[in-house]
Amino acid sequence: MDATPSQPLFPLFLDLKGRRVLVVGGGKVAARKIEALLDAGAAVVVGAPQLEPALIRLSLQGRITHLAGRFQPGWLDSAWLVIAATGDVTVNRAVADAAHARRIWANVVDDAELASAQLPARVQRGPLQIAISSGGHSPMLARLVRERIEAQFDESLGQLASLLGALRVRIRDRLPDLSARRAFFSRVLNGPALALLRRGQTTAARHAVDAELHLEQPIASGNVALVGAGPGDPGLLTLRALRVLNEADVILHDRLVSDDVLALARRDAERIEVGKQVGGDHDATQARIHALMIALAKAGKRVVRLKGGDPFVFGRGGEELQALHAAGIAFEVVPGITAAVACAAYAGIPLTHREHAQSLHILTAQAKSGDADHDWAALAGAGQTLAFYMGVKGLDRLRDKLLAHGRAAHTPVALIENGSRPQQRVVVGTLAELPDLARAHAVHAPALLIIGEVAAFASQLHWFGAAPLGPTETLCPGAPLARAA
Ligand code: SAH
Repeated sequence: MDATPSQPLFPLFLDLKGRRVLVVGGGKVAARKIEALLDAGAAVVVGAPQLEPALIRLSLQGRITHLAGRFQPGWLDSAWLVIAATGDVTVNRAVADAAHARRIWANVVDDAELASAQLPARVQRGPLQIAISSGGHSPMLARLVRERIEAQFDESLGQLASLLGALRVRIRDRLPDLSARRAFFSRVLNGPALALLRRGQTTAARHAVDAELHLEQPIASGNVALVGAGPGDPGLLTLRALRVLNEADVILHDRLVSDDVLALARRDAERIEVGKQVGGDHDATQARIHALMIALAKAGKRVVRLKGGDPFVFGRGGEELQALHAAGIAFEVVPGITAAVACAAYAGIPLTHREHAQSLHILTAQAKSGDADHDWAALAGAGQTLAFYMGVKGLDRLRDKLLAHGRAAHTPVALIENGSRPQQRVVVGTLAELPDLARAHAVHAPALLIIGEVAAFASQLHWFGAAPLGPTETLCPGAPLARAA
């Protein structure tokens, strides 16, 4: 069967409860189809000379009926639907022909030509199902589209469908007018219910839906999602981050968030860059961000506050949540892959290693009051990895402090600039030459500094982008470590 663009297939959802469905074939493919048919409550009859073990079990449990032997048209008696899954074209054709003669819909696995009915690729969220078909033109394309849709909607959508199903009669009684009902559903879909379900707060979600139902005037019910955008490679965004970005009305993003990540957000969402300028008044900017988030949420917007890396690692995410909490705004947090983890991975530097590094310290060279005050003596010991955020300026001081407290001058270091992005650069060398390395290669922000024996692995294990720059010949992993020991 060839569905031309002018004759698309007709989609249909079948109620198979208690209805007889014949499956011809007793192998793995048949077993998969039978599982789905049983889920839908069908009375499954399987015809085949032999059954695979899973099907034998179902047959022994009385959940399916086995007709043993080669296909015969009589098997189709009183069936509503037949699926031919034998892998043998001759048998499949005989099944399709017999079904056609009796006007029974026949699906033939992997054979759109013979089939009068095709099974769609589907996405299932509770009672809500999305079926995708390419009309037999490209089942693989349909499957890829399905994967995209899978990534967009999580289980909360199915839970919302169930919740609305339970309220169906009440909704119709309360809102007999179709356009009022439409407006209600749109408010529910855009309101906080999905986010509440995602957080596991079912009762609150039911109340939110209830509130919309009993409202003459819809109230604004905005919220804020504090989302980690990762280091730049959009592939490192989490599925949840992607979903939240798809639901956003407004996105407040830092400068650090890459364009590739922003490109994944809902097209009609408003984007506002709220990044801090270098040398600007950071506290004033931060206060403005708080005020903006609160004002937008109070106006009923779904706000995404998108930050580079993870919002809780040097991201002032805590302060932003405190402000939201104080203003009574609902929020959620979606973690992201932080720069230390991402840069290390993309530079081939294991942050811990059973032989070379027993601890990892995540540090910043800056603090609220200027220079960060670390326990330098503790950080100077060998066998620990230091990951410095904002490590480009003040490298001389950093090196001097560590050397003064006894960290070995030949301790390997790596500077990772634009980690995980197409323009990533990795510069490697020793602690003693760190500031010179940065100057020689004109390393600029954003860059992450890794100090520790493991940094030497970049020369050996790099896999992303260009090979590391710097005096690589002196830095094979074994050598500096042997000296350090
Ligand atoms: N919340 C972020 C960190 C913000 S602080 C996170 O979890 O990653 C900003 C610092 O992070 C930068 O100065 C730099 O040191 C580091 N950084 C962030 N993204 C980076 C990237 N793609 N490459 C290198 N360093 C990065």
